[in-house]
Amino acid sequence: MRTVYVNGEYLPEDQAKVSIFDRGFLMADGVYEVTSVLGGKLVDFDGHVMRLQRSLSELDLAAPISMEELLAVHRELVAVNGIDEGMVYLQITRGAPADRDFVFPDPEVTPSTIVLFTQNKPGLAASPAAKKGMKVISIEDQRWGRRDIKTVQLLYPSMGKMMAKAAGADDAWMVEDGHVTEGTSNNAYIVKGNTIITRHLGTEILHGITRAAVLRFAKEAQMKVEERLFTIEEAKAADEAFITSATTFVMPVVEIDGAKIGSGAVGSVATRLREIYLEESRKAAI
Ligand code: PMP
Repeated sequence: MRTVYVNGEYLPEDQAKVSIFDRGFLMADGVYEVTSVLGGKLVDFDGHVMRLQRSLSELDLAAPISMEELLAVHRELVAVNGIDEGMVYLQITRGAPADRDFVFPDPEVTPSTIVLFTQNKPGLAASPAAKKGMKVISIEDQRWGRRDIKTVQLLYPSMGKMMAKAAGADDAWMVEDGHVTEGTSNNAYIVKGNTIITRHLGTEILHGITRAAVLRFAKEAQMKVEERLFTIEEAKAADEAFITSATTFVMPVVEIDGAKIGSGAVGSVATRLREIYLEESRKAAI
């Protein structure tokens, strides 16, 4: 049985409890982070903590523990649960006030709730999906307007994954005003020649920690990067496509709305970026 962390305590998973009045449960009033684990170490922990602090401050949500303690909790959970490859999930909500009320509770009276748990995923880095590539469909982006804040409002992304599944695909790319925003749980890219194209940062997408690292590695490897809008039509005419996220790293996309991208096989740019990302991440993991 897993050991999890809830509000200062390490507990067996079946003894960890959160109140029914918790605003994370009642109102999706909470933020989260997912940090991957490679070789028992945390990948890009500083990036995840920085984004967490930004998400908290945008929502005027208090951090229940210091960022140094947070690192210690991550490491303890990875150690006690014997995680070599997998991830650590972290969630902070606006706590459990005495009654349900739209008004934010006083943080002095209602402390934030914090929960962390691990998921073991042996073989995460050697995923066969990276050799095969993914199929995606396009769907309308019907999420709220502050996608740069990593909130636990994941209903529409879940619906998107179900729409993809029903269509025989692996995931969905969301489209707003004719332009691709991102994948349901990942950032979206296309490749044309030696140029990698991905949507620019803003409130319309999550500022992926993997995105930042991959774009940096791409530039270091003399690839050209354009951060701009692109359409599904442009994506269908691209040489390659791929996604990035903390738990999929770099994952090739070989089909969009039934149309093959390039030759329909996994592309060399995505494959190379995945190799570089995994190598550099293992080196820098803490
Ligand atoms: N966009 C969305 C909507 C996501 O949910 C995620 C993953 N949480 C990402 C992008 C990728 O972010 P990261 O690289 O930090 O995992």
